[in-house]
Amino acid sequence: MSFKPTDYLPYDFANRRHIGPSPKEMAEMLSTVGAADLDTLIDETVPKGIRQAAPLDFGKPKSERELLHHMRETAAKNKVLTSLIGMGYYGTVTPPAIQRNILENPAWYTAYTPYQPEIAQGRLEALLNYQTMVSDLTGLEIANASLLDEATACAEAMTMAQRIAKSKAKAFFIDENCHPQNISVMKTRAEPLGIEVIVGPADDLDPEAVFGAIFQYPGTYGHLRDFTPEMAALHGAQAVGIVSADIMALTLLKEPGAMGADIAVGSTQRFGVPVGYGGPHAAYMATHEKNARSMPGRIVGVSVDSHGNRAYRLSLQTREQHIRREKATSNVCTAQALLAVMAGFYAVFHGPEGLKAIAQRIHRKTVRLARGLEEKGFKVEPENFFDTFTVDVGPLQEAVMKSAVDEGINLRRVGSTKVGISLDERTRPETLKQVWRAFGITDRDPGVTAEYRMPDPLLRTSDYLTHPIFHMNRAETEMMRYMRRLSDRDLALDRAMIPLGSCTMKLNAAAEMMPISWGEFSLLHPYVPADQALGYREMIDDLSSKLCDITGYDDFSMQPNSGAQGEYAGLLTIAGYHRANGEGHRNVCLIPMSAHGTNPASAHMVGWKVVPVKSADNGDIDLDDFRAKAEKHAAELAGCMITYPSTHGVFEETVTEVCKIVHEHGGQVYIDGANMNAMVGLSRPGDLGGDVSHLNLHKTFCIPHGGGGPGMGPIGVKAHLVPHLPGDPVSGDGAVSAAPFGSPSLLPISWAYCLMMGGEGLTQATRVAILNANYVAKRLEGAYDVLYKGPTGRVAHECILDTRPFATSAHVTVDDIAKRLMDCGFHAPTMSWPVSGTLMIEPTESETKAELDRFCDAMLAIREEIAQIEKGEIDAENNPLKNAPHTMEDLVKEWDRPYSRETGCFPPGAFRVDKYWPPVNRVDNVWGDRNLTCTCPPMADYAEAAE
Ligand SMILES: *Cc1c(COP(=O)(O)O)cnc(C)c1O
Repeated sequence: MSFKPTDYLPYDFANRRHIGPSPKEMAEMLSTVGAADLDTLIDETVPKGIRQAAPLDFGKPKSERELLHHMRETAAKNKVLTSLIGMGYYGTVTPPAIQRNILENPAWYTAYTPYQPEIAQGRLEALLNYQTMVSDLTGLEIANASLLDEATACAEAMTMAQRIAKSKAKAFFIDENCHPQNISVMKTRAEPLGIEVIVGPADDLDPEAVFGAIFQYPGTYGHLRDFTPEMAALHGAQAVGIVSADIMALTLLKEPGAMGADIAVGSTQRFGVPVGYGGPHAAYMATHEKNARSMPGRIVGVSVDSHGNRAYRLSLQTREQHIRREKATSNVCTAQALLAVMAGFYAVFHGPEGLKAIAQRIHRKTVRLARGLEEKGFKVEPENFFDTFTVDVGPLQEAVMKSAVDEGINLRRVGSTKVGISLDERTRPETLKQVWRAFGITDRDPGVTAEYRMPDPLLRTSDYLTHPIFHMNRAETEMMRYMRRLSDRDLALDRAMIPLGSCTMKLNAAAEMMPISWGEFSLLHPYVPADQALGYREMIDDLSSKLCDITGYDDFSMQPNSGAQGEYAGLLTIAGYHRANGEGHRNVCLIPMSAHGTNPASAHMVGWKVVPVKSADNGDIDLDDFRAKAEKHAAELAGCMITYPSTHGVFEETVTEVCKIVHEHGGQVYIDGANMNAMVGLSRPGDLGGDVSHLNLHKTFCIPHGGGGPGMGPIGVKAHLVPHLPGDPVSGDGAVSAAPFGSPSLLPISWAYCLMMGGEGLTQATRVAILNANYVAKRLEGAYDVLYKGPTGRVAHECILDTRPFATSAHVTVDDIAKRLMDCGFHAPTMSWPVSGTLMIEPTESETKAELDRFCDAMLAIREEIAQIEKGEIDAENNPLKNAPHTMEDLVKEWDRPYSRETGCFPPGAFRVDKYWPPVNRVDNVWGDRNLTCTCPPMADYAEAAE
């Protein structure tokens, strides 16, 4: 090869990062699928009638260095002051060991939700630690593995109270001392469900009038009150008592369980998770074990594997929307797993003494601050507090707020005469001086006197975090290795492709992830003055405008912090529109039976009736059935929820017709945008007839899945719905999340993706996602039946394999195949959805040809094993599929199987050197639900399990 220095060699960094197959590989793949070139394949796959008119154009894509420079400039427009605003958001110190080994470690952040427990034992243990921590600190028996934020957790607690209360009252009481955003989100949730909300002072509670009541502890202005009498009174009236408690305060103060609370909720943000301008952080919920089946969210539990060894898994999944649909306990799907893991590790890292010491320091600093103010004649309220009080400054409010900002401090404006102050783990002696100076006190030294101002009867007397896991040797070496051991048990995207249909497990590029650790993004309080968040504003505006271009909508709301939240927010928006048109009675929602479980669950949350619509044999919506049902319910039709491309992985040509039918009958169209990875740059839901859609930024737009969260589910709407979007959680109406922009500290990731890809790069990603899916479908065709193809025989960005025939031909279930894939070093595709007994494969554009081939080789080898069973060559019960997954224990123990160790442990696909070993054999789901254990089991049990 001759090379002249003057030759120009283009190198396309931006596109190659996200796009797995090289140009040469793409050519080979196109020849396998039988398409002349990529454009031809796309033309055959995406019908002309739905293609967008103009290509996406976001200008020149940025290189990584340009991007990071741009991010630095944007970040610099955010002003990082010390926020002492409180209201459920507090400064915290993320231990560097947790920041580096968890938050910034792809082994943790690229994992999927632990539906396949054998390859998720590490994060399941970490989440079990979290549940144990919550259960101990709240004094209640069982906790879930996170909800989206404190305000939505309050709303979930309210609807759960209605489910479990024997009282038939229709009203719910909210203590006026709850954080304003909690009150706001509960009101939004209550309205469509016909729950009457009573907000007032705790003394005004009439237990007979309500099915439940919630109290904030400590109150939003710092008040401490023992709610034992209220809990007793509620129980006397067969009603349910809820306490929304500060997790840090619980290390010193009487726990909700000891007051008689039925449910405790709150945020674990201040356990090491940066405020991030509002999120993400994990909210918790705890309750009595007898209420477990009514609890929303995911619950990690303990079970056994096929050899009787201890194994963790998700418990009681039958409560969840993917099984129960509109009868589910809630629509929560993606939660805040990664943040729950961080908070759990914060407790492991500090242990009970460490947490208590942190809380004591916070309290003592608060007392010192108050003393300094009181000695100068300021009136501090309340008399007793943990970390929060208010100061009545009369007409000086504005002046004090302003001089605080000049000192670098944000205080809370309370009413028109008071300021609120909440201290935290980050408060330094200098912080106290700054606050004093804001009040004109310049001659005071913080000092070191240890004084307490918590009432004796409210001091905590019970132990917590007694389990040995919270007492391990906390040398960083040990901590680091514990985190490493756990992540090594798991299979995340940093090891292998995770071909989950509909979940779009694609690359979360390092350059996209870096800015989320920067203080300018992570340290902002959600309610700082707008002029301190100009960088956020600029980013949110630009990202919104790009998302509008991508989707064909007119505006976006960033408030929903998961896809399911987006659905809920979108349906509320539609409901608001109908009400404004005097058609508030419209409450019927058409939803295809193939819809994601969150769809019907969300429709149920806005009080709508779900009318299921059939699918035709080719997987499309059955148009006749759809039209008939739209006509039948025309008078009450609120709208429909459809997914595009459909959950069957096909671009239905009839989508515009479906939208037309709904509009003709007065309804609005919700298009679930979870499959947007098949559309970006090619087709826009807003052009197809959609009125509103959510996007899963944690699928299509590169936010990592985190083992089950965080996520962002912003909604795009057409202009006529803009006035009905969620309002500000503190000052507006209709809020769905605690913070105005949901979990905004994740947005740099999606923004970076758009900026580095540019319009053409994003479109190329879509094309290659479609190519990769068609390549997999082609390679597996013949061995497996590929269900649902478009009229030209193409699939969209995912394909569905039928495994049902093997149940009769070889006694092999879809589960057996999923578990056998683990031996091959893969996470299973989506199982049994949207069609039972099938596998839905979505390879995404990120995977290279080599990785797709490794996966296809594994699938073909499994098919070969099935064939051997079919032919009677291997035993129908004792075979590699039924015994899968195989552990290292299996390999080294006595081997009495009718196939070789090599066949069992090293099937095609498995790496020889880098072999992934599932740490447990197949987990028994039924046993776990029958023997419910949702906190860390005693150490003796571990010893037993190890025997
Ligand atoms: C993932 C998904 C959802 C729900 O999104 P979450 O963020 O998990 O709440 C809804 N619909 C479809 C089709 C999905 O794939």
